[in-house]
Amino acid sequence: MSSYAEQSAATGTPAVTLIGLGPMGRALAAAFLAAGVRTTVWNRTPGRDTELVERGAISARTAEEAVAASPLTVVCVVNYDASDAVLRRDDVTAALKGRTLVNLSADTPERARDTGRWAAEHGIAYLDGAIMTPVLSIGTPEAVFLLSGPADLYERHRPVLDALGGTRTHLGEDIGRAAAYDIALLDIFWTAATGYMHALALAKAEGITARELAPFAQGIGAILPSIFEETAADVDDGTFSGADNPITSAASTMAHVIHASEAHGIEAGVMRAAEGLARRVIGEGHGADGMTRMVELLGRR
Ligand code: NDP
Repeated sequence: MSSYAEQSAATGTPAVTLIGLGPMGRALAAAFLAAGVRTTVWNRTPGRDTELVERGAISARTAEEAVAASPLTVVCVVNYDASDAVLRRDDVTAALKGRTLVNLSADTPERARDTGRWAAEHGIAYLDGAIMTPVLSIGTPEAVFLLSGPADLYERHRPVLDALGGTRTHLGEDIGRAAAYDIALLDIFWTAATGYMHALALAKAEGITARELAPFAQGIGAILPSIFEETAADVDDGTFSGADNPITSAASTMAHVIHASEAHGIEAGVMRAAEGLARRVIGEGHGADGMTRMVELLGRR
């Protein structure tokens, strides 16, 4: 199999196969098509490609046919159980040999590394990736993609991946690194988003609508970016400074949320877990430290 660049040069048209046509897969395929990339698509459940075919996509009858159609296959399905179900069939694996696979499905770093090992065993060039922005960002400057794996492979396929818009960051050769960033960033997102849902329930119990709270919620959210920046050195250097906001103060505020919630009969399990961590830090004699001390507590094995 010749390289993507050689194939593209030979045919004059870049080509990609997109496996998985959920909302994200369809958005990726649409961005490739909009950029003039020859796009072959396949999805487990047929019929999801109608609109894409109207826009010029080639509908493959099987996953094997799909991956054989392009030097580069991008897969974007719900998780790695799903991508394994498609890719680890003998016929599909054989068709991928000598080609490049980019898995943009979300899962754990270990699943990414396992897929890397499988790809190496079967002569498949492999990049792992994560998409950090929603469907509507794809093909726009707002899209954010993280990728890891061999740097030369990344460079070779950059021209076609650029069609997805936004920014792509190559995080290094460790194949699990993109998934590791993804999982850490999702940790922030889902705990914060769950906190927001809880706050809306608590506000509602106090007669405050989501619309009323929204502008103030945005204000609270806007504090987070500076916290990310200011605490980074504190955590990396292990100083855990609590000069401006000791964890005793944080624990006290958390307790208010718990008491107010439970007074309304609203479960407060998420905040109870957070307060429990803060109390453990305090119990170990670190009450004057900042909340960042939790990182050290959680990181002990
Ligand atoms: P889903 O996460 O719901 O994935 C749907 C896709 O997975 C469909 O193509 C579906 O096929 C396929 N699928 C599910 N189970 C299997 C299986 N056992 N075998 C084969 N295919 C299977 O929707 P999205 O498209 O939104 O997400 C795709 C990936 O992108 C996910 O990993 C998600 O975390 C990630 N992502 C999504 C974002 C978003 O805003 N939507 C944002 C960032 C990342 P079928 O149609 O046959 O069911």
